[in-house]
Amino acid sequence: MTDDIDRANATAQFTNDLAIRQHLIDHALPPQWVIDGIVECLDCGIDIPSDRLGALPNCVRCIDCQFTHEIRKKQ
Ligand SMILES: [Zn+2]
Repeated sequence: MTDDIDRANATAQFTNDLAIRQHLIDHALPPQWVIDGIVECLDCGIDIPSDRLGALPNCVRCIDCQFTHEIRKKQ
């Protein structure tokens, strides 16, 4: 019984690790968006403020475009 639980936990951990790795690959910031340390919004191209990047280092959109993006995703 314990072996079954251990195997199930190991499988779940392996699956979680794969999902995390894929998420990191999918959400990596493409280097062309970073110019001299300035990150441009993926949608509108304005510079993403440094305080936003400090809070969300992997963000790719300004707050207005992110809001619009999330609204569209829900529809
Ligand atoms: Zn934007």
